[in-house]
Amino acid sequence: MLDTATNRPPLPPEIARRRTFAIISHPDAGKTTLTEKFLLYGGAIQMAGQVRAKGEARRTRSDFMKMEQDRGISVSASAMSFDFGPYRFNLVDTPGHSDFSEDTYRTLTAVDAAIMVIDGAKGVESQTQKLFEVCRMRDLPILTFCNKMDREARDTFEIIDEIQEMLAIHVTPASWPIGMGRDFLGCYDMLNNRLELMDRADRNKVAESIRIEGLDDPKLADHVPPHLLEKLREEVEMARELLPAIDPDEVAAGMMTPIWFGSAINSFGVKELMDGIAKYGPEPQPQSAEPRQIAPDEKNVTGFVFKVQANMDAKHRDRVAFLRMASGHFKRGMKLTHVRTKKPMAISSPVMFLASDRELAEEAWAGDIIGIPNHGQLRIGDTLTEGEALRVTGIPSFAPELLQTVRAGDPMKAKHLEKALMQFAEEGAAKVFKPGIGSGFIVGVVGPLQFEVLASRIELEYGLPVRFEASQFTSARWVTGPKAAMDKFVNANKQHIAHDHDGDVVFLTRLQWDIDRIERDYPDLTLTATKEMH
Ligand code: GDP
Repeated sequence: MLDTATNRPPLPPEIARRRTFAIISHPDAGKTTLTEKFLLYGGAIQMAGQVRAKGEARRTRSDFMKMEQDRGISVSASAMSFDFGPYRFNLVDTPGHSDFSEDTYRTLTAVDAAIMVIDGAKGVESQTQKLFEVCRMRDLPILTFCNKMDREARDTFEIIDEIQEMLAIHVTPASWPIGMGRDFLGCYDMLNNRLELMDRADRNKVAESIRIEGLDDPKLADHVPPHLLEKLREEVEMARELLPAIDPDEVAAGMMTPIWFGSAINSFGVKELMDGIAKYGPEPQPQSAEPRQIAPDEKNVTGFVFKVQANMDAKHRDRVAFLRMASGHFKRGMKLTHVRTKKPMAISSPVMFLASDRELAEEAWAGDIIGIPNHGQLRIGDTLTEGEALRVTGIPSFAPELLQTVRAGDPMKAKHLEKALMQFAEEGAAKVFKPGIGSGFIVGVVGPLQFEVLASRIELEYGLPVRFEASQFTSARWVTGPKAAMDKFVNANKQHIAHDHDGDVVFLTRLQWDIDRIERDYPDLTLTATKEMH
């Protein structure tokens, strides 16, 4: 029997019950609070304090650095798994600062949906918009949560219009708020014809939910005062006329987002949002790979690394590679093939971030995220299989937008610095280019805060004070092409040539004019601003 929505046979139940998603938002919109409430409903209450610690650590720049140094916290929050009714939710964390947008992009390659949290008073903010664009590049389904309705919020139609216009996506109301600010009572659940009433006295209580037969149900008047009821009826009637009804196919294609209104801090609207994730946040999706796509229900296990975190424990220099399972049923101890090096790897102590703490993952299914401790063999973009030479595609490395020269405070420690830099390059924390002429390294990042985090990590983890200095270059492009053309190009442009940590050729310049010139003079060569990680 085929699934009517996907036209594929239904997935095995263990896979079909998985929902793997990330939350995108502008700082302060309520991502941490919402995560906490997810865990509360997922029965992982112990976790709430940890998430809070992280949220508050993000308040100031120096605290943010401290958080980065406190690898333990950010790691256990990198991927969290919890059950919600019959579902298994895997929530993958995205970095909170726009300077780490490349990390965010790669994280979003590991999820099947994104929750967009916006502040009801502020609407679509700059970081929301940036992250949304990243989701759009992958056509990810997006569910929207409009938070802080217990405070003075904008008019509901205005919020919906703003999302539709700024993000060019259809918006369909899954719930409709009743009153706002001090008068906020709760929501009318437009998908299930229920009245959800917020309890202001107990912030962790699930809202009272009353079944009603549409907006003419006399029961409504028992709970909603006349002036709010009249407004609700009017607005919902208008919404039904002006806004599209929910279309699951459009949601799955990332062309329509359902919006729920609520207040994360009051636990209000959270359960309805979770029901929405269960219903619309799709099951594990096929993964693009070469030479063929990977389907989640294939018997053989495959997975790919989307994130690496190094030096979580300064004493051991261990690293954890985060693997998104793309297919099959993984069991602890399995021997998988590391496709890039063609070497077997026994995965004997994988970790999963269940409820309160790291745990050994005895098993994992397509859709799950596991952490694999290793000594540097696993890199971002790597694929693990049961032997087949598959390579997951679509995990890019972006050309950095800011370049600086880095030098060790102590020139005798140059080799040491090289080792540290290579490690951060492999972790994906920065681009490291070794110029063909001269000494030192050029480090490239997307946002300036990354330089600060790097400098502090190199000092903390390698005991090596470093200096970042302005570089003469501002842009980098990877260059590929036939050997003869490459040799000619490299010889004629020595001042501009560097190699990245994989040994690939990079052209550095400060002028777009230079890039245009190379493209014109060397028609056989390709200059790119992204490179697939493998
Ligand atoms: P993040 O930066 O997106 O992770 O945001 P947080 O979850 O840390 O929340 C930012 C601030 O907004 C904190 O002070 C929260 O207590 C507050 N907050 C979160 N949700 C709500 C809400 O529903 N109502 C109100 N009034 N405040 C909220």
